Amino acid sequence: MNLLDGKIVSQAVKDRLKTQTAERLLQGKKAPHLAAILIGNNGASETYVASKVKSCAEVGFTSTLIRLEESISEQDLLFKLTELNEDFDVDGILVQLPLPKHISEQKVIETILPSKDVDGFHPESVGRMVQGLPAFYPATPYGILLMLEHYKIETKGKHAVVIGRSNIVGRPISIMLNKNEYPGNCTVTVCHSHTHNLKGICLQADIIIAALGKPEFLKGDMVKEGAVIVDVGITRVPDASKKSGFAIKGDVDFNEVAPKSSYITPVPGGVGPMTIAALMMNTFKACAAKD
Ligand code: NAD
Repeated sequence: MNLLDGKIVSQAVKDRLKTQTAERLLQGKKAPHLAAILIGNNGASETYVASKVKSCAEVGFTSTLIRLEESISEQDLLFKLTELNEDFDVDGILVQLPLPKHISEQKVIETILPSKDVDGFHPESVGRMVQGLPAFYPATPYGILLMLEHYKIETKGKHAVVIGRSNIVGRPISIMLNKNEYPGNCTVTVCHSHTHNLKGICLQADIIIAALGKPEFLKGDMVKEGAVIVDVGITRVPDASKKSGFAIKGDVDFNEVAPKSSYITPVPGGVGPMTIAALMMNTFKACAAKD
């Protein structure tokens, strides 16, 4: 078993971006600028946004964190987004999900200009990605591809099983792994909550992407010897032994699955840091596209 270490790979990606950003500045060009909107006081969202802002500082990007009250109206949020769309200095815009119930996620996603859509959620970004055109890839699937690439994991002709079909992880990674380029050319099976015989399907997988949000769901007897396992899940489960009062669990039972796998991501320290590295890559690209 080998670890797919998201901390190491994300650091390598960020080191490259730091060098490229310094080169931009030497050439008299602007630093990439990410604007992040955080609404309300969700603990997990606070942590994610703080990591994104910290990563911007690490690589030399400018960042603007905009904190808004939980009670902000949808109209006011959309107005704020329009302002950011029109601000030439801002290259990438992200709105941390989930949103308060009274705000339409779809309207928010569609209001962000596709050229600043560094989360890759806008229908135009998704459509371009599906058609194989240059596009911002959604950060988590993109981070997974960067990790597979870093470890030179063979994907051509492999059977990849994706568990989960959300717009932000399962569905896009299934399309990306199926593309006619490396990392890709997999035969992909997408599983979801109505899939029959999930265990039988997983046992045929060379690569499993677990993205269903159910702690330690994937057990040792669901995985064939030598499979590559990517655990996207992040769930906070109560744990009195931790200072925070919770532990972070992935969707894979690591202790059972790791001995059977050839490569496996840990949680934490796997896909999470790669998501942020991918976001940084998208922000750099958004900025460079304006040169
Ligand atoms: P989601 O709730 O939107 O989607 C879950 C999917 O899993 C659904 O398509 C559902 O059909 C499927 N599913 C649920 N139960 C199932 C079952 N028993 N068998 C098969 N399929 C089942 O979740 P999401 O937004 O895609 O997130 C999934 C997990 O990944 C969560 O734990 C989330 O916190 C985590 N996540 C991590 C990162 C990261 O950076 N590491 C990023 C995004 C999401």
